[in-house]
Amino acid sequence: MPKERFLQNSIALIYDFDNTLTPLAMQEYTVLPELGITGDSFWKEVNREADKTKGDRMLTWMRLMLKKIADKEKRLGRKELRALAKNIEYFAGVEEWFSRMNRYVRKHAPGYVRLHHYLISAGLLEIVEGCTIKKEFKRIYASELHYDHNGVATFPSVLINDTMKTQFLFRINKGKEQLDESINEHMPENLRPVPFSHMVYIGDGMSDVPSMTLTKKNGGYAIAVHNPRDKGSISICEKLRAANRVDYFAAADYRKDKALDRYVRNILDVIIADIKHLHDVSAMPGRA
Ligand SMILES: [Mg+2]
Repeated sequence: MPKERFLQNSIALIYDFDNTLTPLAMQEYTVLPELGITGDSFWKEVNREADKTKGDRMLTWMRLMLKKIADKEKRLGRKELRALAKNIEYFAGVEEWFSRMNRYVRKHAPGYVRLHHYLISAGLLEIVEGCTIKKEFKRIYASELHYDHNGVATFPSVLINDTMKTQFLFRINKGKEQLDESINEHMPENLRPVPFSHMVYIGDGMSDVPSMTLTKKNGGYAIAVHNPRDKGSISICEKLRAANRVDYFAAADYRKDKALDRYVRNILDVIIADIKHLHDVSAMPGRA
């Protein structure tokens, strides 16, 4: 036991991006309109091609996108992709959500709890880096492209898919947040900066199942959200809830006093109480 008790006083709110914070996938606001392709036809083509080649769907969409950029002789480098992110539309209340949650934690746990927001997306980092909410995240994990000496994207350099997303939960858990840090070495639970029980994972669908399951099985919280304008998307949430993948589901409406806001505040209250208990213990004579 170290002399100073390690204070696990951080809370992590962890978000998926596509269909969790935005009604459509990020490509549908950015690169696809630029190429004159609809999201519907692109994703159908990706699915057909992935079935035909038995390829990974993430690699397939990246390959098809790069091919279409080349075929149309479009200049879509890092700078252009970032600029296109201004077209992204969010669910109601997303842009105010982060600072409101931060204020809530500051008010209810002044000085002793830190709240951080993380984004884990299979989409493109180049696009997310240009979006208006980028500044809200302590860290963003997303797929990335490799660019040649002319600044032309040629190949993926970082690829994130459903199961790989879980790696980032361990990175947050162990405080090894940089991609070049190894997360495989054993770390005792009481030395991990963000215990899973202080994590809340918010996602929209089947692609979030590995992350939801990992979070929940380790004592954390998982929430599914659905598009409030698409009644069909509720059934996915119902399935996730029935299979006990999530604790709760709600409309992806991030405004004050909506169901999601109230539910997350309740979870924050529970985690804050837990951290407060840890503080009290550590403040006892002979323990600190
Ligand atoms: Mg999603």
